[in-house]
Amino acid sequence: MKHFYPAYYAAFHCIAADCPDSCCQGWDVVIDSDTEAFYRSVRGDIGEKLRNAIYTDNDGDRVFRLAEQKKCPFWGKDQLCDIYKELGEEHLCTTCAQFPRLRMVYADFTEHSLALACPEAARLILGARNAYDGFVHTAAEGCEEYSAELMQTLLHARRQTALLLSADKPLSEKLKDALLYNRKVQKKIAAYDEGEITTDCAAALAELFSELEYIDNDSREIITRACAYADLCDHEVPLTRLALYYLYRYYLNAVDTLDVLLPVKHIIVSAVIITNLSKKLPIATAAQLYSKETEQSYENMERILDTLAYDPRFSSENLLTLLS
Ligand code: SF4
Repeated sequence: MKHFYPAYYAAFHCIAADCPDSCCQGWDVVIDSDTEAFYRSVRGDIGEKLRNAIYTDNDGDRVFRLAEQKKCPFWGKDQLCDIYKELGEEHLCTTCAQFPRLRMVYADFTEHSLALACPEAARLILGARNAYDGFVHTAAEGCEEYSAELMQTLLHARRQTALLLSADKPLSEKLKDALLYNRKVQKKIAAYDEGEITTDCAAALAELFSELEYIDNDSREIITRACAYADLCDHEVPLTRLALYYLYRYYLNAVDTLDVLLPVKHIIVSAVIITNLSKKLPIATAAQLYSKETEQSYENMERILDTLAYDPRFSSENLLTLLS
């Protein structure tokens, strides 16, 4: 198994008490069965607190019952984790031990990333130049999970898309180039009928985002308001790095979906919303807030991607109208 890491990966360290938006608030922490079994064996006050805090949620996952203001019950007044302090880092559940580290496993190779939803990761992702230059590889022959030919096509197309997004041009032009290039790639991979309803794309986007589930209810209004036409030239460099983050995190999903336009549509929508959010927030905070409310929610991501893929109001022609 080969492993590929973006340039910013090794620099990540949790900033714990200095974190402006801790992952210990608002998010459900799913506890893996090995960790739960250990927690059941712990003696003393912390053991009792652990056992009382775990319950089964509506999805059948074992999670911690959040305390007031949706805080993790083990997030102490000193802003540090009681489990980490009392039992040691090795006894954090897998969710807490790994976040914000991500692994995308493609049978014979694994790509690593950091989740943009973590403020420190967002700072690194937006600050890194040439972060994915080490991701040059070829698909292995004889892999049973996917067609090596298709994976090779996708790896090449992703590299070409990354080059288009890295060109010395305004971002809105680079996104158009990426979309047009991937229309050609799509024709090679699978038949694709986008359908099209000419519509006010910003209004359709606002409708979609107003219907999502939000961790913080204020986010619904803030993000829905940011679903508007956008001029991307204020933050060309960080937005280009965000576009590459989304490209490397999602593009190879096309090995299952056979849809290479979807990751580019997702980049356009994300760039537009983050740009509009950044009128009132620093760009890294805007990106982190948006990611926290979308990428960290399986339901929201599924809804966004399904809608962008199948709703003709989000044809690539209509989406391009969002870019002024
Ligand atoms: S969000 Fe990131 S920096 Fe903040 S506490 Fe969690 S892992 Fe640490």
